[in-house]
Amino acid sequence: MNDLSTADVVKKYGFKFSKSLGQNFLIDNTVLDDIVNSADISKEDFIIEIGPGVGTLTRELLKKAGKVCAIELDSDLIPILKEELKDFKNFELIHKDALKIDFNKIIDDEKNVKIVANLPYYVTTPIITRLLNENYNFKTLTIMIQKEVGERISSEPNCKQYGALSILVQYYCDVEVIRKVSPLSFIPRPKVESIVIKLTKLDEPRVKVKDKKLFFKVVRCSFNMRRKTLWNAVKTLKVPKEDMEAAFKKAEIDEKRRGETLSIEEFGRLSDCIYDICIH
Ligand code: SAM
Repeated sequence: MNDLSTADVVKKYGFKFSKSLGQNFLIDNTVLDDIVNSADISKEDFIIEIGPGVGTLTRELLKKAGKVCAIELDSDLIPILKEELKDFKNFELIHKDALKIDFNKIIDDEKNVKIVANLPYYVTTPIITRLLNENYNFKTLTIMIQKEVGERISSEPNCKQYGALSILVQYYCDVEVIRKVSPLSFIPRPKVESIVIKLTKLDEPRVKVKDKKLFFKVVRCSFNMRRKTLWNAVKTLKVPKEDMEAAFKKAEIDEKRRGETLSIEEFGRLSDCIYDICIH
């Protein structure tokens, strides 16, 4: 079976990298191994890979998984992937934009769905947000992303990077940092460092809230105005002052605190009290 390196495949087809598609291809086998091993893949698994590039990671996934379905946007890569991975009967290639695709159509009634990707930096936040908010049925998401975004995702209260993205991801998932990755591990080299993280979907969200939309609204407005106190931040919710005072009191949260100091459980308590007193 054909096991050419990333650089060999790029050379063989005279492939031209597109900056706008975030094309930084992996050339470091240790990173490849760490992604595949941490994704914990078996023949029972249905893998969705976003952005297969020339198929370096895809090939390793195909060796271990029951089936791999890869979604690639760049038309120039489609014939390359078809040719290079033609020996694998468990490979399916979808030529579409991962930001627009309906993942339910791909997942269908598959049980052990795991998503793996070396994500182009420009899609990282929208893809993660979509995959989580639309509640797709997958077990894990093992991704290589820009280091700063990884730090935001795994951050705890009172950290500079803690924000709405940390809460969104930690509401739905356990977060594990697998490793950092240097720009030297890619062709062409990106300007920033990367990180591999694994998100494992929880059976139930981390906090049980009465109104999920309100919970995320409270979170978003608290971080939109990071320097303001919670009291000033939640003014955008346009709730009568006395009701909001009562909600803070019931939640036992000091309104002079800033959003970045609140744990996910405290955000849950505050949004439930706002719901009980001000909205219901
Ligand atoms: N997986 C390969 C690797 O590790 O070497 C390539 C990773 S490269 C960082 C990102 C890949 O995502 C590229 O192949 C790029 O063409 C593809 N891509 C970019 N935007 C995409 C989108 N919206 N939907 C699907 N694929 C996309």
